[in-house]
Amino acid sequence: MPELPEVETVRRAMEAHVVGRRVEKVWCSSLRLREPLSRRRLAVLQGRQILSCERRAKYLLLHLEGARTLLVHLGMSGNLLVTEERRKHDHVIFYLDDGPPLVYHDPRRFGIVLALTAKQLTACSWLQGLGVEPLSDDFDVDLLVEACKGRQRPIKSLLLDGHVVVGVGNIYASEALFAAAIRPTTAAGRISRGRLARLVDAVRSTLQRAIDHGGTTIRDYAGSGTGGYFQRQLAVYGRDGEPCDTCDSRIKSIVQSGRSTFYCPRCQR
Ligand SMILES: [Zn+2]
Repeated sequence: MPELPEVETVRRAMEAHVVGRRVEKVWCSSLRLREPLSRRRLAVLQGRQILSCERRAKYLLLHLEGARTLLVHLGMSGNLLVTEERRKHDHVIFYLDDGPPLVYHDPRRFGIVLALTAKQLTACSWLQGLGVEPLSDDFDVDLLVEACKGRQRPIKSLLLDGHVVVGVGNIYASEALFAAAIRPTTAAGRISRGRLARLVDAVRSTLQRAIDHGGTTIRDYAGSGTGGYFQRQLAVYGRDGEPCDTCDSRIKSIVQSGRSTFYCPRCQR
């Protein structure tokens, strides 16, 4: 599943290859994604120039002329590619005035592609109630201390749920908690301010490192999920039973709210 670093990588690819282009024609399949595709609304984007590409949590927002926005969520298996190649599971194709078309590809069809007016964007239910961006200045120790105060809830599920901070998926939550030496099951309210400060830094650096490794310029961005270089740098995630790089203890795996959690029983207390 694409997590924040992968989505940010796609955003950068959009910025490099799609911003400034004009949409000449839109084609869409008749299959339903997480929401139905509206041929009529997507057609409204024809003739408009793409002005910018923004990311909010794991949503991509391509802003076009005339205050129209294309909202895209990659779901479980979606991808946005700039390519001439046509494949099965291509669901939306934006033909541009220059260069290869922009293609939304999604085998499992859990993604979202919506063309919105400014008013619809403001009211869009997908964008309501989101926490702060982890790489913005809004995500700081004061915010995390406030969010954790009095909470019995395990720190990992608080990080994951998206109401406090967005985009910290399962892999990055496990990795950041290892970097901050905090056990994932610890009640959020019992973690000291100093340790939460370390956690803020760990979340930021874990995500930033992943973005740096996925974020080279790509004409054909291909590869959702955690492929490549970053995967080889994971300290705990997916390493159940292997020795910890720091202390040689065996990495443990447990299930927390239905998700796998990996941690080092000696380094994380
Ligand atoms: Zn260890």
